[in-house]
Amino acid sequence: MTGKRSSRISGFYRMPIEDRVKVIAEKTDLSPEEVGLLRSGGGMSLEAADRMIENVLGSIAYPFSVAVNFRINGEDYFVPMAGEEPSVVAAASNMARLMREGEGIRTSSTDPVMIGQIQVLDVPDMSEAVRSLQEAESKLLKIANEQDPILVKFGGGAKGLELRQIDTDAGPMLICHLLVDCRDAMGANAVNTMCEALSPIVADLTGGRTLLRIISNLADYRLARAECVVKKEDMGGEEKVDDVVAAWAFADADPYRAATHNKGIMNGVVAVALAFAQDHRALEAGAHAYAARTGRYRSLSRWSKNGKGDLVGFLEMPMAVGLVGGATRSHPMARLALKILGVSKATELAEVMAAVGLAQNLGALRALTQEGIQHGHMRLHARNLVVMAGAEGDVIEEAVRLLVESGEIRFDRAQEIVRRLKG
Ligand code: NAD
Repeated sequence: MTGKRSSRISGFYRMPIEDRVKVIAEKTDLSPEEVGLLRSGGGMSLEAADRMIENVLGSIAYPFSVAVNFRINGEDYFVPMAGEEPSVVAAASNMARLMREGEGIRTSSTDPVMIGQIQVLDVPDMSEAVRSLQEAESKLLKIANEQDPILVKFGGGAKGLELRQIDTDAGPMLICHLLVDCRDAMGANAVNTMCEALSPIVADLTGGRTLLRIISNLADYRLARAECVVKKEDMGGEEKVDDVVAAWAFADADPYRAATHNKGIMNGVVAVALAFAQDHRALEAGAHAYAARTGRYRSLSRWSKNGKGDLVGFLEMPMAVGLVGGATRSHPMARLALKILGVSKATELAEVMAAVGLAQNLGALRALTQEGIQHGHMRLHARNLVVMAGAEGDVIEEAVRLLVESGEIRFDRAQEIVRRLKG
């Protein structure tokens, strides 16, 4: 949280990198070491990389940015984002500017409860098995909590049991859900450990055979929500508001459109996740499974028009993110991201991510219903093409200009132009 320091910075994108770093360092109290880390271009030593995954040869860096202009629940935030796709940070910052009115984006979240699944096969008597597990619930929760006294100390831990009978191609199964409040952890390790510890006891109690014991990424008890109002004048009039609502309705009704619509939301969510070294596969899996919870794959967001003709947006999605555990505390850039964003609880990070997802969604809907998505993308795309075609230094800007002017932003044209400019 940046307290009273405004995140509204006009023309931030036009500043030279050095000036941007200076502004953010000043506003978020970065130390000279932290500024040095930003300048180091990735911040990970080979030794640290080698400790993180297997068979390491080196590391790959992504650009690390901040989105500006975010006001969430009346507080201003600079939101670190990383990724390879142009326009994402620009769109988030731009839409956050339109959403700043009043308290800005309003967010909320549930308790950070994850689900661990224990699969029970060959159950001789389903109702008897369900009854024994229900009777043993407090004993099971106690054993689960003995696996992680630290989590319990922080107010988290196993909180409940839910039992589901499902029919599958391999016959009927009893699925035991362990509900675990993970506090500031993403929780996969914590939950998996608890499920493994309970597994033999569950087998005993049910007379069945336990097989899988693993977290579910459909984290539908761990939701983050964001909502906003954008004035119709800022959208270019009430007709443009209606167009965004119609574009949303298309996504909500048609899975072919919804896949790309939700991908746009994940452009923002995953970019923040990358900057914080989060498990973005877990977030993707949770988001898309949640989008299909009604039996049809639908939009994660909802857009409507209020009585004044203004645009109202709402996003709700699972957000399994942590500030402890995983790589968040061990990756130096993720630690720096935490300092810049200034959050102290995983639920707060989750809410910021939902806010970014909502802003990103509006950026795409606005572009699609107005000038079309390629308009903004093309200059950036042209830059990628000329670099791919071998442009360097001063040639880059000139080649981009010529390529855009040519009206044919294609690789073969980029190659021609670069060849010509290089003489
Ligand atoms: P972890 O086990 O490294 O750390 C969490 C632990 O930190 C807790 O169990 C607790 O003991 C301790 N802790 C200290 N302070 C805490 C606080 N304030 N709140 C909560 N816990 C606190 O990490 P994790 O979050 O259990 O697991 C995350 C990792 O698991 C990620 O790297 C993820 O990629 C990986 N993973 C994911 C899946 C999946 O399906 N999503 C499966 C397996 C592993």
